[in-house]
Amino acid sequence: MKIKKGDTVLVISGKDKARKGKVIEVFPKQNRLIVEGINLRKKHMKPKKSGEKGQIVETSAPLNASDVKFICSKCGKAARTRYKLEGKKKYRICKKCGQEV
Ligand SMILES: [Zn+2]
Repeated sequence: MKIKKGDTVLVISGKDKARKGKVIEVFPKQNRLIVEGINLRKKHMKPKKSGEKGQIVETSAPLNASDVKFICSKCGKAARTRYKLEGKKKYRICKKCGQEV
């Protein structure tokens, strides 16, 4: 998976299409990721103690990695990335602007 935690992505399908957000969690094995404020699902929380009320909290559900596009932090465009190897170091390069991202 080419998207990392902390990247900004553009949602390209689903109910949050055309929205941007920050990746807060990635699941490379499932090829899924969680984007902050995107794909919100209401979750009913049971009260922890008796006498307390249950709450409804909104949490971001995972999206397929194919439903988002990487946004370059340097040029701000939706771009593909490639990797450049230099010695033992691996750099991720934006194909649009050529800068390390
Ligand atoms: Zn770029």
